[in-house]
Amino acid sequence: MKPDELDRLTVQINKDHGKLPTLELLDAMINGTFPGKIALVSSFGTEAALLLALVADVNKATPVIFLDTLKHFPETLEYRDKLIDRLGLSDVRFIQPEPSAIKAADSDGKLWKRNPNACCYLRKVVPLEEALSGFTAWINGRKRIHGGDRAELEAVEHDGRRIKVNAMARWTQEEIDAEWKRRDLPEHPMVPFGYTSVGCKPCTALPKPGEGKRSGRWAEFDKQECGIHTVGGPWDDPSGGI
Ligand code: SF4
Repeated sequence: MKPDELDRLTVQINKDHGKLPTLELLDAMINGTFPGKIALVSSFGTEAALLLALVADVNKATPVIFLDTLKHFPETLEYRDKLIDRLGLSDVRFIQPEPSAIKAADSDGKLWKRNPNACCYLRKVVPLEEALSGFTAWINGRKRIHGGDRAELEAVEHDGRRIKVNAMARWTQEEIDAEWKRRDLPEHPMVPFGYTSVGCKPCTALPKPGEGKRSGRWAEFDKQECGIHTVGGPWDDPSGGI
């Protein structure tokens, strides 16, 4: 879809559906506007279960993309499998980077230390772009309460290629906690140890005291996003800094 078409469609969807409750928005997007052409991208991290449950309520066969960077905590992989089973999701796709690309750019597995943007490009941005080919839209779990670039999120935007549905953009922490409890969803196994946001193992630490839930992500670097949500960032740089 061309950028001006994406602009027009984004405005129209926000006008027609942007203020709907999340379940109704998801139903409109999954079953109405983009049937068979929309996927959920999930990290199966500390907050992921609720959006996965809402999507499963709407359509358990919705494609779900999990970026298996080969750097995840084993706890995340176990939790992923537990949630898939519990929610009855029938089309979860585990997407890994190409072995030849890893061999060429990260043969020692330490690229995250030398150049985390390049590592995210290699292990997340490129695989996701390939996994999303054929889809017109994707759903993600970013929220305004995460702060930073996310503080002004609208329900629907686009990334220059596809429509992005920020289905839980306006949820407060209290609303999330209440719905999580009501559904009796399991917590990520690292939450009891104090982790509030869990990504790849080398780039995840405990949150810094008094700072946001994502402050333990890339804690040693001036980096807040992996690049899959950054228009004009690594996604748009074919070299990705590699
Ligand atoms: S989060 Fe870290 S290990 Fe994972 S892809 Fe990005 S830089 Fe690499």
